[in-house]
Amino acid sequence: MSKKGLLFNCGKSKVMHFGEDENTLVMSFLDSVSSYTYNKHERIVGTGVVRCDISSFIFEKLEEKGIKTHFIKNLNNGKMLVKKIDMFKLEVIPRNYAAGSMVRNYPVIHGTRFDPPILKIDMKYSNDPMLNDDYIVALGIATKKELERIKELAHEVNNFLSSFFLEKELLLVDFKFEVGRNEKGEIIVGDEISPDGMRVWDRNTYVSMDKDVFRFGKGDLVEAYKELQKRLMV
Ligand code: 5GP
Repeated sequence: MSKKGLLFNCGKSKVMHFGEDENTLVMSFLDSVSSYTYNKHERIVGTGVVRCDISSFIFEKLEEKGIKTHFIKNLNNGKMLVKKIDMFKLEVIPRNYAAGSMVRNYPVIHGTRFDPPILKIDMKYSNDPMLNDDYIVALGIATKKELERIKELAHEVNNFLSSFFLEKELLLVDFKFEVGRNEKGEIIVGDEISPDGMRVWDRNTYVSMDKDVFRFGKGDLVEAYKELQKRLMV
C-alpha cells in the first residue's frame, strides 16, 4: 500500500493518512456529526474545516502554555499534520458544570458548578463505558503511574482552557480529550479538542456553541461553531 494511502478511520468524524514521514500522520476532519445518545447522524458541510481550525488553535494555545500535544500544523481545508503517538483507549472528560450524561444519570441540577472540577474517564470501546482507577489498571489500559499523570494533565488542560474561555466570556462546561505516549514515553494530548466534543455556553446568555445545537436541534451547527471560533480568536 502506498505510504500516502488511507491508514485508518478515527471514529466516524475523521480519517488518518500517512504524513510526510513515518513519524507523522495527516488527520482529515470529515463533515460528519453524530450523537450516539440521541441516535442522530448527519453530514453537515463545513463542520470538518471549522473543527480542524478550532482544534488547531486550541493546540497552539496549549503548546504556548507548555502543554505538549501531537499538533504540528494546520494544513487547512480540514487537515491537520500531527505526530504519530501511541494512543490510550481512553476518553478523558473534565467537567466544570453539570450537563449531559451527568444530569441524565445522577441527581444533580443542570448547570451546577463543580469546584474543584471533576473528571470522568471512559473507555474507547463499544458504547464507551465509564471506567474507574481499578478498571483502567486491571484492563491494562494504563499503569497506575500513567493514570496519575493523565489526571494531572487533565486538570492542567482544563484549568488553562477554562480561564482562557472565561476571558472570552465563555463557560467551558465539559469537554472530551484523548491522550497518548510520545516517543519519549511522555503523556501528551492527541486527537482533537473542538466543539464536537465539548460544551461551551455564553457566560451571560447560556447559549450553546457546541454539538448540543445539533443534539437538540437548536439552530445552525456551522454558525454556532463559527461563532465560537470568532469569540476564541478575538
Ligand atoms: P457526556 O458524558 O455528557 O456524554 O459528555 C461529556 C462531554 O464529553 C461532552 O462535551 C461530550 O461532547 C464529550 N464526549 C463524551 N464522549 C464523547 C465521544 O465519544 N465523542 C465526542 N466527540 N465527544 C464526547
